[in-house]
Amino acid sequence: MAHIVITSGPTRQYLDPVRYLTNGSSGQMGAGLAQATLDLGHEVTVISGPVSVSYPRRAKVIDVVTTQEMLEATREAFQTADGLIGAAAPCDYMPKEIETHKLNKTGHGLELSLIETPDIIATLGASKRVGQWVVGFALETEDIRFRAIVKMSRKCCDMIVSNSAEAMNAAENSVEVILHGGVILAQLTGPKSDVARGILFYIQTHLIDRPL
Ligand code: C5P
Repeated sequence: MAHIVITSGPTRQYLDPVRYLTNGSSGQMGAGLAQATLDLGHEVTVISGPVSVSYPRRAKVIDVVTTQEMLEATREAFQTADGLIGAAAPCDYMPKEIETHKLNKTGHGLELSLIETPDIIATLGASKRVGQWVVGFALETEDIRFRAIVKMSRKCCDMIVSNSAEAMNAAENSVEVILHGGVILAQLTGPKSDVARGILFYIQTHLIDRPL
């Protein structure tokens, strides 16, 4: 039995006490992956941003809000895990400063100064131990396969699941599963639960049964 950590859902970066930056990630893919992982007899820890989807009862779920919190919780869980699946859509930017009071309208608009948040799978991919593996997702709108392969290498992932923007907040998904070195393993289309089962089949056969 393996212990697999799954990041899921969006994160939020607050501008002031009531407003935040986020994206439309629903957590459905993460929930499907958690179920498929449990069905193969593995232990699952889900690190989730704010979502309304429910995760399987047998999964350990750690709720987080910001990308930094997701990184810290994932880093902690990954210490004792065999693999990490990055299905979350963490906010890539955060305000340089968070206002402690609600920003009031001035009639002159508002200029935001944003800085980049840490990349969770790139950070943990770069520091993984021998035997640990990392699977990333890549959501692209053009040159989808090429960009996914470049991303897999840049983020030190062992496998990448490439999908297009239609995946966001949708019940169905169409993905390509690509192994390190650029080997195209499969194209999977259908409800996210079915696609998740397919992805887990390739993780099981290429990363768990045949350790790196
Ligand atoms: O660069 P892009 O956001 O398309 O990369 C997607 C992959 O990187 C996903 O696996 C996502 O979970 C992960 N990611 C991350 N931390 C971020 C941004 C993306 O782990 N800050």
